Parts: sequence; C-alpha cells; structure tokens
Amino acid sequence: MKYIDRHVHTRFSPDSNADIVKYINKAKELELEYILFTDHIDFGTKDPEFMDFIDFDEYIRFMKNLERQYEIPIKIGVEIGYEKNHKKEIDEFLNTYKFDFIISSIHYGNGMDFYMGDFFVGKTKYESYMDYFKLVLEMVENFKRYDVVGHMDYISRYGPYRDKDYEYEDYKEIIDDILKAIIKNNKGMEVNTSGLRGELRTTFPKDEVLLRYKQLGGKHITVGSDCHFNQDYRADFEDVIRNLNSMGFIIE
Ligand SMILES: [Zn+2]
Ligand SMILES: [Zn+2]
Repeated sequence: MKYIDRHVHTRFSPDSNADIVKYINKAKELELEYILFTDHIDFGTKDPEFMDFIDFDEYIRFMKNLERQYEIPIKIGVEIGYEKNHKKEIDEFLNTYKFDFIISSIHYGNGMDFYMGDFFVGKTKYESYMDYFKLVLEMVENFKRYDVVGHMDYISRYGPYRDKDYEYEDYKEIIDDILKAIIKNNKGMEVNTSGLRGELRTTFPKDEVLLRYKQLGGKHITVGSDCHFNQDYRADFEDVIRNLNSMGFIIE
C-alpha cells in the first residue's frame, strides 16, 4: 500500500510556489487513492508574509474543480500555526470550514518567531528549546481541534547553534508530558520527513521520541513530507515507513 503524503504545501502557502497540477499528476502516476493538501494558516504570527490568509471559499471551489477535471479525490487539509492567545479566532475559522485533516503546529510563540530568529535572542539553547516545548505542551493540553501535532521537535531546525540537535534525556519530563497529553486526548503524531532533507538528517520528531511515544501507548501516526517544492512530495517515505514499521507502528 502506498501511503498518502499528509503534509503538503502548494502555491497557496506564502512560502511555496509548488504547482498543484504537478502534485496531482504525481499522485495519479503513483496510483494513490487520493491527494491531500495542507496549506498554512497562521494565527498570531509577526511574519508579514504569513499574515495574509487564504480565501478558503475560493480555495475549496478551486480544488473541487480540479477534482472533477483530473478525476482523483482531493482532500482538503490545513496546517494551523497555533498560538494560545488566538484560540478564539482558530475556533471561528474551524467552525467556518470543514477540513479533512488538521495539523496543529507551533511556528512561533511569546510574540517571537523561530524563523526570524528573535525567539532565541538572549537565551541558552536549553532555555529556548524548553520554551518551545512549553508552547507545544500548552497546545496539546488545551487545544483539541486537530488530528496530529506537526513536526513536534522542529525547534532544533531553527536554533542558531552549531549543534542544533538535542538529547531526549535533557527534556525527558516535558516531552513525556507532551506525549501523554497527545495519547490521552486520542490525537496523533506526525512524523515529518523534512528534517531528513536538512542538516539534521532526522525526522521530526526523532526516533528516540517516537520510541518513547510507542512505549507510553501512542498509536496514531501519520507521515508527511512538509514539501514546499513538487520534487519533495513523499520524500524519504519508503525508508521512514520501513523504520516506523520496525518500531511497531501502523501508519494511518
Ligand atoms: Zn509547520
Ligand atoms: Zn508545513
């Protein structure tokens, strides 16, 4: 069985120019059952590029037309950039549109952006990574309207440190609290393959964390490439899925 990529950005995301029809053709060529898109919608970001919201009425109409034209089911998902002070807006948004799949991600917090680097200013690596995990913990404890947590430990991608990697052992308590909340709320964990294309050469989250998730009783797992370019669609899926199967996971 060929797994569907569950994290895909198109030109509708502010940081992607990826062509939708090329994705569709790829999915057809691979004989996938359907294709899923998860463009960005970010609440509370300071990054001006991400402040323009997609017009989802138009988006849904556009996708429905393509579905008829290319004769492949198109599922419409979304990647929410979660921020705790914008929960009301997120709720209103999710009340307005019905999505097939929702990824909830932390892209910034405490008024600062990882991507723009200000999140790390004046902190040690341990302090910044802890601050990040606290934001994830707040999300999984208080927000329920999602299917999977996006790239759970990807703070390690943005830290301005020579060694960006971290040890699970150093953050064991807070990571365990995050994993337990995901499991308790019957939510899922995304295994994001984008880190394999970067300098860290790891999925987000990394194997140690996935094994701990399994050990604590975590079952729900999806795999997403987080592609922003057509060529990265389903990137590293075969290896990652083999690895997850060897850990005992059944991928959804
Ligand atoms: Zn993301
Ligand atoms: Zn993404």
